[in-house]
Amino acid sequence: MRLFTGFILFSVLGITTVCSAEEVDLSVVSRIKDQAFNHSQVMDYVHYLADENGPRLAASPSYQRAAQWAVEALRKDGIESARLEEFGDFGRSWSWSGISVQMIEPQVTSLNAVPLAWSPGTEGTVTAPVVYAPLWEDPKDPAQSNLVLLAERIEAYKKQYAGKLGGKIVLLTGKRPFELPSKPETQRWSEDDLVEMMSARDPQTTDLYEWPLLKMPVDTEERWKLYEVIPYEIQNDYSEREEKLVNRLIEFLNKEQVAAVMMTNTEGNGGVIFATSFGSYLASAPIPPTAVQLMPEHYNRLVRLIQHEVPVSLRFNVDATFPDLNAQGMNVIADLPGTSKRREVVMMGAHLDSWHSGTGATDNAAGVAVVMEAMRILKALDLKLDRTVRLGLWDGEEAGHLGSRAYVKEHLGNPRSMELKPEHETFSVYLNIDTGSGRTRGVLTQGNDMAKPIFLDLMQPFEEHGISVAVPRNDWGTDHQAFDAVGLPSFDLLQDQLDYWSHTHHSNIDTVDHIVPQDLMVSAAFMASLVYHAAMRDELMPREPLPQPLPAPQALPEILQD
Ligand SMILES: [Zn+2]
Repeated sequence: MRLFTGFILFSVLGITTVCSAEEVDLSVVSRIKDQAFNHSQVMDYVHYLADENGPRLAASPSYQRAAQWAVEALRKDGIESARLEEFGDFGRSWSWSGISVQMIEPQVTSLNAVPLAWSPGTEGTVTAPVVYAPLWEDPKDPAQSNLVLLAERIEAYKKQYAGKLGGKIVLLTGKRPFELPSKPETQRWSEDDLVEMMSARDPQTTDLYEWPLLKMPVDTEERWKLYEVIPYEIQNDYSEREEKLVNRLIEFLNKEQVAAVMMTNTEGNGGVIFATSFGSYLASAPIPPTAVQLMPEHYNRLVRLIQHEVPVSLRFNVDATFPDLNAQGMNVIADLPGTSKRREVVMMGAHLDSWHSGTGATDNAAGVAVVMEAMRILKALDLKLDRTVRLGLWDGEEAGHLGSRAYVKEHLGNPRSMELKPEHETFSVYLNIDTGSGRTRGVLTQGNDMAKPIFLDLMQPFEEHGISVAVPRNDWGTDHQAFDAVGLPSFDLLQDQLDYWSHTHHSNIDTVDHIVPQDLMVSAAFMASLVYHAAMRDELMPREPLPQPLPAPQALPEILQD
């Protein structure tokens, strides 16, 4: 049965436009829901990805195991085309297997800690005094997201501490401020939240960005607004420049021969360690000293003791290695071949890599499980597809969207020069999921006015599951941006936050316990329906005008030049 939601007639200045509604095949939707709700395998995928194969740091041996597992699981589901697609040099792979950090002076106690990625382990147990030498006294100092001020601060830091840090454990971040939590730690979007999101942001009246970009707002909301409008390649360029500045600090710490650096995080409400990296995976970058992230409460105690001039020393041991100094990046790709429009591609994806302190359950085994389940459902129902449906599980998202960017460059086009590949012409749409386990509530339309009514029609059979909004905003910070950057329709699903930002995102408690299975089941059904209908509609997904090639960047201030 097909559902027609009618015709909408607009009459503007005497011109009448007919917007025919999207055709929704309710018999297929109903079969998809039956597979997703009564024969679900989504939590089996989560189990293998997180409990058995997690964490999955980009290019690490456990990532490679998970990628291999995903290929085999897809083939077992009958998707024979599942394969690994290497995309070139990643750099140093890294993995860790143990850590212990003990305060031995002034009291003996153990401290909760996680090593920071791409920093080396210790050779055995090390005992050393602790010195408080923060790069920024205020961990939210706005100057740290201004590249010139950051470069100046690193130069001043070198002068301030030269000859003073040798053999010591350096506490490198400021004391983490604590406030009693004022917001619920787990939340779903309320009706009011969704209504607010459905209004577009006001147009900007001033030039928003420079190229190269030299500073970012510190306030998260302001930063999000900026990320929504600056070209993706400019964002990536900013991150790369910031990383290069951190390498200057690392070279100094290495010259000083520090025993280790220890830090803490400002995310969450305490008790949880959020940990990413210190130093780069790039083979050309300096290897940093051993770097450890401590639980904020334990870190702050060390700082208070030192501020009271009480000598502090720690004993620590980190088991971490670089198994491969020249690891290859590796995506997982799988196809359900189309028939009459076989060359045209509808794609969905999620990143397979994770950070390393938890098991990468909500970030992003959840998303991977949703898209693998959507593939399984389409295959199990043996639906005839006009277009080819393709799955992409990306490597290196957390390291800068490396897998999806490499895929786009190889198959679709170059976002800087806008030189396009033939596959660009026959590519319909990319759909992404990457905000934890929370239920899908809608789609962010990335400013594509033509896509909005299509999504609204496709959401109708899922309204009873809470999926109802087409949010006219750009989402950022994940893999759909790579496709968006070359002018292709690409969208991220809007999901309930749950405790993603307060607890699990990049943290040591990103575990399966924080997954809501029913939410994944609904998201998988919706994703399967979206890609099915995108594969069957008459036309490719409507596109916005192509972005212009990026102009040559302005010269960098002298202090930022390499
Ligand atoms: Zn993620």
